[in-house]
Amino acid sequence: MKEKPAAMDSYPNINSLISDFVVQLKTSGRSREVFEHVGPNHTEEEMFSYLWGLQEAHQALTPTLVSAGKSEKIAESFLEGGEEELDRGDLKEALKSCSMAILFAPHPMSLGGRDAELENGRDRNNNLDILITDEEEEDRSRAYLNFELLARGYGGRSEVLFEAGHYRQCIIDIDAALNHTSDDSLRERLHERRAKCHARLRDEEENGKISTNDKYEKLSDTLCSETPVLPDPHPTIPAFSKDVRVAFAPSQGRYLVSERDISPGETVCVERNYCSALYARNLLTHCCVCLSRSLAPLPCPFCSGVIFCSEACRAEGLAGCHWQECNILPTLVNLAMGPNSFLAYRIITATSYDTLKGLLFVLKGEESSKPAEAIGFDEGGMYSSSSYRPVYHLVTNRKERSPTDLLRRCIQAFVITKLLVKSGRYFVNDCGAAFDPTREEIMLLGSTLVHHLMSLMCNAYAVGELQMNVTDYRQCKMEPVGGGVFVASSLLNHSCNPSVAAFSHGRTQVLRAVRHIPAGRPLTYNYGSFYCTEDEDTRRAGLLKQYSFTCCCEACENGWYALFHLSSDLVISCPKCSTAPSESCRSCECTTVKKRIEQIVNSFDVMYLQILHKDVSSNDVNMLIDVIKLMEKWVQLPCRDYFDAQELLKLYFDTRGSHVYV
Ligand SMILES: [Zn+2]
Ligand SMILES: [Zn+2]
Ligand SMILES: [Zn+2]
Ligand SMILES: [Zn+2]
Repeated sequence: MKEKPAAMDSYPNINSLISDFVVQLKTSGRSREVFEHVGPNHTEEEMFSYLWGLQEAHQALTPTLVSAGKSEKIAESFLEGGEEELDRGDLKEALKSCSMAILFAPHPMSLGGRDAELENGRDRNNNLDILITDEEEEDRSRAYLNFELLARGYGGRSEVLFEAGHYRQCIIDIDAALNHTSDDSLRERLHERRAKCHARLRDEEENGKISTNDKYEKLSDTLCSETPVLPDPHPTIPAFSKDVRVAFAPSQGRYLVSERDISPGETVCVERNYCSALYARNLLTHCCVCLSRSLAPLPCPFCSGVIFCSEACRAEGLAGCHWQECNILPTLVNLAMGPNSFLAYRIITATSYDTLKGLLFVLKGEESSKPAEAIGFDEGGMYSSSSYRPVYHLVTNRKERSPTDLLRRCIQAFVITKLLVKSGRYFVNDCGAAFDPTREEIMLLGSTLVHHLMSLMCNAYAVGELQMNVTDYRQCKMEPVGGGVFVASSLLNHSCNPSVAAFSHGRTQVLRAVRHIPAGRPLTYNYGSFYCTEDEDTRRAGLLKQYSFTCCCEACENGWYALFHLSSDLVISCPKCSTAPSESCRSCECTTVKKRIEQIVNSFDVMYLQILHKDVSSNDVNMLIDVIKLMEKWVQLPCRDYFDAQELLKLYFDTRGSHVYV
């Protein structure tokens, strides 16, 4: 039996802290008083300041720090499990167990022998050239030796990687193992394995790849085609193409409109997020810096709570976002406050306290002084995805929120504030030393957190990856692995029949048209309610609750849900024949169009497999785009074939974005 990593079940989560808080309030007779201070008519500062002033809150809502340190016992048990799985030939499970052993094995407190590579920021995944010679290796400081468990973890994983045919990654693990062991027999075995790897790689170079273990060789890190580049970025919203403009209507707020006809498949936005955070369930499978899945991850030297995909990401994480959370992340995960709490934490740590303090007064002023259209644009007129200003100005819908909802956000902010203070890594002076924040400083931080926790509920985007099963590609699924803040994409309004869809390329999000968008029409995105999966009432109720608006899209206005579930035939609506074409109008253009559409639709099954195997031709993709346009012009919508065509086009772009073989 493998031991469970960091058994945290016994520590209280946020709900039990809240129950405790409620009991304490009842005891002191203040249950009612709370809602005199927390409600839509109070500012974030008023609400947070009231909560922070309550003795009951400090007693009930101060989280106990949970540690996710290294553990020899857990590492040993994973090593044992890994060996058994390897003996059984279950390489996939053996790989996971060895990675967990590496994660839990005691680690030197600095990264040691690889500093030079870290400085160069080179990626460990495609680098035969960083291999070191045996002599250099023997010279290596002995300070990193005698981390035998860590060495056995890397050594064990190198064996699995060798069996699975991943020779390059195997060599990297062998070198990591050699870094940490002085055990001569282990070193000898590792050297032998490395020689075999080189022989196999030379062989592949000369004779081409001969696959012996196809299933396991396909297992992969997150892969991604090259991220598209916008040929003509918008002059003031550089994440978008210049073919859009910002429009404003009191009923719809700010939204984007196309300046010219945009075809399905066209890229309209390429945006790198301000910050992102993994969902808790992905913390040990995906890199906490770039959100990529990693086949042979690297550990944090200090905790067992996250992994890194490469030396470059590890260096970046330990110098920034992960360093700021390393000692409190297990507590945050354990509190189970939902994905937005980690993202809110990351917004705050991505913005230093000095920046926050310097900007906040100005930003608050802008809320009331600037016209709604201009909010988020800086003094130079730019709306930048990497600056804090538009992040702060994402809508919060505070006035539409219920008092209980607001109290919950305040409680989350309270807990996160406690953690930021406890981490000793947020309130730091110029020399990096922690200091005790004043009440004023706490209020500024806490109220900003309340603000972001509200805005993330309506503005956080999912970062996804297409997971393809190595044994059967048809079992592929799009899986959200984390959330990100994309301020430019947040300018889009919702439609249940959206004109634009999002595709993840790591931390960059690409928006592409999935319909023909005529000049002057709005660009719309789907906030989570599609016309084909939920009826109007359910969609409208959900959108009203989460986003505070009533949807008036064509699907909601025209009862598309019911029509979609009835539709199985192509119904041509021809301006000339006016009704469905019959024998009498065989000469009309619509008859030819219908035949053409049917012909393309009949090839959908073949195209689906071609897309999954990545051997679809650009001609086929163009055909898909054509059929979408033809159907928009000639077919009565909603229609199942139209939906299928859009889904195929999206799947094609999903296979161009972040995808992984599992
Ligand atoms: Zn990474
Ligand atoms: Zn850590
Ligand atoms: Zn709608
Ligand atoms: Zn006709």
